[in-house]
Amino acid sequence: MSLLEGKTGVVFGVANKRSLAWAIARSLSAQGMRLAFTYQGERLREGVESLSSTLPDSVIYPCDVTSDDEVDAVFSQIGTEFGKLDCLIHSVAYAPKADLEGDFVNTTREGFRVSHDISAFSLVALTRAAMPLMEKAGTGSVIALTYLGAVKAVDGYNVMGVAKASLEASIRYLASNLGPKNIRVNAISAGPVNTLAARGIAGFSGMLKHHADKAPLRRNVELEEVGNAALFLASSMSSGITGEILYVDCGYNILGV
Ligand code: NAD
Repeated sequence: MSLLEGKTGVVFGVANKRSLAWAIARSLSAQGMRLAFTYQGERLREGVESLSSTLPDSVIYPCDVTSDDEVDAVFSQIGTEFGKLDCLIHSVAYAPKADLEGDFVNTTREGFRVSHDISAFSLVALTRAAMPLMEKAGTGSVIALTYLGAVKAVDGYNVMGVAKASLEASIRYLASNLGPKNIRVNAISAGPVNTLAARGIAGFSGMLKHHADKAPLRRNVELEEVGNAALFLASSMSSGITGEILYVDCGYNILGV
């Protein structure tokens, strides 16, 4: 018997085969979860379509998370297609390049607004939209992706770190709010992985090397390890866990000097 047989999920944040969202999708699908995928705009449609077609019975919908109409449309279509929803993967983040490159003190009002809207508020909006379908399932697991820059100052992460701090606080408030409905809300704090979004961070390759040199496991985290942590959080194996930030970073976060 697979861990997620009969379960359904929606995955936000696949851009290509290196995306953390795709690694998570593969782990969930391998254990029997049926998945819906969203893509941000026509530019990404073909790639997401060809990846998702490799997983049984998956469906795809367009969704830019800054649009309330598109968010509503996705969940209405999922309602029609699946009838209920057990899992929501939030693997979406964005900050304007200029705000990631310069000194944090020069963060623009617009850069601050956009990064918080896309990277943090979207979790609240998507969870709210998913809630009625999770209530139909009688259970729910919401999983977001975060990074150490939420709790420590990391060079080059700048306003994205502040948005991730907001995301992590939102995890706790949502978990507290939705626990009585048996909806759990957690995040995975992943170590650095070379993805499209990560390439926007100044000095990212230096960051990768530093983590691999210093982390207790003396290497960087693998995509499959992030996928398998999400599998744990999506399954009943983690039924007593909510509001947590689970570090999947080869131990890097425990270090002092
Ligand atoms: P990625 O580029 O593959 O994924 C980022 C996704 O965000 C893309 O699919 C993009 O389409 C989506 N997105 C951005 N703006 C959007 C919008 N307005 N509407 C809908 N979707 C939008 O990169 P990734 O590294 O897989 O990032 C996924 C998540 O993992 C992000 O939250 C990121 O902060 C987090 N994370 C990444 C790392 C890393 O080192 N790669 C480490 C820790 C956490």
